[in-house]
Amino acid sequence: MSAVSIATAAYLVAALLFVLSLAGLSKHDTSRRGVAFGMTGMAIALGATIWLAVSGAWGDPAAMVGLAIMLGAVVVGAGIGLWRAKVVEMTGMPELIALLHSFVGLAAVLVGWNGHLHAGDISPELVDIHHAEVFIGVFIGGVTFTGSIVAYLKLSAKISSKPLMLPGKNILNLGAIALFIALTVWYVIDSSLILLIAVTIVSLLLGWHLVASIGGGDMPVVVSMLNSYSGWAAAAAGFLLSNDLLIVTGALVGSSGAYLSYIMCKAMNRSFISVIAGGFGIAAPAKNGEEEVGEHREIDAASAAEMLAGASSVVITPGYGMAVAQAQYPVAEITQKLRDRGVDVRFGIHPVAGRLPGHMNVLLAEAKVPYDVVLEMDEINDDLAETDVVLVIGANDTVNPAAAEDPGSPIAGMPVLRVWEAKNVIVFKRSMASGYAGVQNPLFFRENAQMLFGDAKDRVEDILRAL
Ligand code: NDP
Repeated sequence: MSAVSIATAAYLVAALLFVLSLAGLSKHDTSRRGVAFGMTGMAIALGATIWLAVSGAWGDPAAMVGLAIMLGAVVVGAGIGLWRAKVVEMTGMPELIALLHSFVGLAAVLVGWNGHLHAGDISPELVDIHHAEVFIGVFIGGVTFTGSIVAYLKLSAKISSKPLMLPGKNILNLGAIALFIALTVWYVIDSSLILLIAVTIVSLLLGWHLVASIGGGDMPVVVSMLNSYSGWAAAAAGFLLSNDLLIVTGALVGSSGAYLSYIMCKAMNRSFISVIAGGFGIAAPAKNGEEEVGEHREIDAASAAEMLAGASSVVITPGYGMAVAQAQYPVAEITQKLRDRGVDVRFGIHPVAGRLPGHMNVLLAEAKVPYDVVLEMDEINDDLAETDVVLVIGANDTVNPAAAEDPGSPIAGMPVLRVWEAKNVIVFKRSMASGYAGVQNPLFFRENAQMLFGDAKDRVEDILRAL
């Protein structure tokens, strides 16, 4: 059996494992198996690719040097990847993922440029298709690269999460796409370097502008959208490298990312087309959302414990602050303690609470909170009006009444947990600062709401002691 046939068979197995991995990841109880399938598939794919390269280079000193450099790069890359994965905090995952997407985009740009430089090796009847592949690969890669860098900067709070509202932003985006189509046709006719440089610059600027134009509240959709773009960038690189596995894997990532973006858009009441087109058709919000809305009231841990002790139903709505404070463990203890006393304690989880899909579910599972008391937003919202006490632990945008009640708000239309309908609301946070979307939260000034300031973990532990 030739090396190519062995590698092709291995690629087939790996592709199958990737499909099984996606299927496993779609459900809570099969997700570990899904991860195991994915890791095994990737190990087989890497092994087969290295095997193919080694058998192709064997006996040719120049090719062996190239191979040694490639293997060295794999070892260094794997080392850095392992180290980052080990040290990254759960709260730092989204920005790490965004950064990794940018690498896929950059790789597609470099593969495209390499394709341009080696266009002479392509047979004349295929050269036009090759040129189109180069151009499309560089374009998708460039958009993914800078788009992911902006997402990284926004998610790590290195730049503001507010949307950039350039005048005529829709025209700019449409103009860039029209220019790309015109340049592609031109490049297929005359594959000059200057056209490749032009499309690289256009794609880098478009990627930057697309993501910069999207506001903080829509960032979850952007992350999954960039996931999808990175898949298509990998598929484009697969065509240029004639690597079937890269095409299949890229298409799997691309289509599943697109579907995830679609589901999130539905959950967030956003238009899918508008978000993937950089906020296309969304007008600037009527207000900047930072206006103060009255006086807030404070509560201390002892009084909060007293209120909880007298309650018969309690709902906990966690958010990003619970992840920052790592408050899930004392939260799980409080839940147990109150349940032991006969209080009905449940959790309400917003689909974009935290900084990555399922963030809160993962933290609560880690702290061994039983699954059956952890409910989705739609399952709990109608019960909130009958609830004695809601504990808002480090959540902000996901419980903001402005989204439901103020059409001029930057987050208008986003479905939220209607915690303000409860009899009493206690908000755990460190200050009056706004949430990720940078929008003031009128909940803090409502009659039935009281602020419990400080680190969420410290305050929950104070309540535990007082109970
Ligand atoms: P927010 O990001 O809106 O607010 C978190 C709040 O936690 C802040 O107001 C902060 O206030 C408080 N906080 C931070 N640290 C602590 C601490 N140690 N102790 C107590 N409080 C703390 O959180 P939500 O979860 O409600 O909303 C998520 C936001 O993130 C949404 O806008 C969503 O669109 C966005 N997003 C979500 C992603 C996802 O996939 N889930 C991905 C990207 C963005 P203070 O500083 O005063 O303490």
